[in-house]
Amino acid sequence: MSSRDVAQLLDLTDPLAHFRDQFSIGNPDQIYLDGNSLGRLPQKTIELLTEVVGEQWGNGLVGGWKGWYDLPSRLGAKVGQIIGGDSDEVLVCDSTSVNLFKLTVAALQARPGRHKILTDDANFPSDVYVSTGVAKLVGEIEVEVVSISGEFADVAERIIERIDANTALVSLSHAHFKSGYLYDLERITRASHDAGALSLWDLSHSVGAVPIDLRSAGADFAIGCTYKYLNGGPGAPAFLYVRREIQDGVFSPIWGWFGQRDPFEFNLTYTPQAGIGRFLAGTPPILSMSAIEPGVDMLLDAGMKAIRTKSVAQTAFLIDMADQFLANFGIRVISPRSDWQRGSHVSLSHPSAWQIAQALIHEANVIPDFRAPDVLRLGITPLSTTYMELVEAVERLLRILESNSFLNYPEAKSTVT
Ligand SMILES: *Cc1c(COP(=O)(O)O)cnc(C)c1O
Repeated sequence: MSSRDVAQLLDLTDPLAHFRDQFSIGNPDQIYLDGNSLGRLPQKTIELLTEVVGEQWGNGLVGGWKGWYDLPSRLGAKVGQIIGGDSDEVLVCDSTSVNLFKLTVAALQARPGRHKILTDDANFPSDVYVSTGVAKLVGEIEVEVVSISGEFADVAERIIERIDANTALVSLSHAHFKSGYLYDLERITRASHDAGALSLWDLSHSVGAVPIDLRSAGADFAIGCTYKYLNGGPGAPAFLYVRREIQDGVFSPIWGWFGQRDPFEFNLTYTPQAGIGRFLAGTPPILSMSAIEPGVDMLLDAGMKAIRTKSVAQTAFLIDMADQFLANFGIRVISPRSDWQRGSHVSLSHPSAWQIAQALIHEANVIPDFRAPDVLRLGITPLSTTYMELVEAVERLLRILESNSFLNYPEAKSTVT
């Protein structure tokens, strides 16, 4: 059977196929493989935002706060169902980077006498920056960045052997943004706890793509964005998770009035709320926060198990095609080949990846993304990506490679990728 025949069959029998119609898809010929950077727009979000702006804000005015005030925890509870956190353990608020800052400081304060944050060199730059910035702010903290480049086989061991009695916090991304490598969250968390350290997981590249169970893994802290696989929209607020058992012993470094116990008493002494609420800072961005709900509802409706099953099948299908058709042109699959070690994107490397990405966008109507210096990332979002799109994308890429048309594009890259 040809790849096209296989794709046709898989699309016909795909139990999630109908979800594609729930997205706004402007140009059906465009193959969008960047949902792990910015997820598609759910149709429902258009109606919802019209309602929030026109009715709730336009007519309700300040009275709208009756419904808005608990949005961070109401949405947090829904996100919690996707990441295995209870409703009193998750909030939607601020950005991923800001939440990382808050939780990193909280973790260091909860482990006085320990002087190390452990992370790895495949982490998202903002994560390493924030860790380093916090270390400088708090003082006498070292950020150890474990090099995990190369093989994926013993990544977990290389991290675990660096966790010691001086480690306050192990701060890692669950799925690596470049390669798609997926950590065994439970195993690393257990090793952190065995050494008396806390664990913080950045779920930005795994939430909505991979089933996650923070509670059963025992994770202490987690953060993540909502504009990738959760389809919350550009710059949508992020979420944070703090394990219930440690909540009352950890504190946000941002003593904002939304985290105060009685914000409407307006007294000048800060007493943190009991529980997760202390990690709120100030007035939430209601418009962009409201936009998160429809995407999260779709994921809950589809179920993370079904999403993961399709994601694994699609990434494996894409890797097979890359091996079969693209390897001859110097394209190498750099994502893990074992399904359980891979998130929902497939990364290909090629010395001219930047030029190839330009050719895909400008002459093939395929939207990948590029990560310096040589990585072409193809993100799969099972709720909208079809198998046939993957075949089409590979065929279009093949034409670009065969014709060398990518050489017509400049080697220099522009700022937003
Ligand atoms: C996308 C992403 C971020 C982005 O952080 P923002 O504060 O939303 O800009 C952070 N960490 C990881 C791992 C990401 O994938």
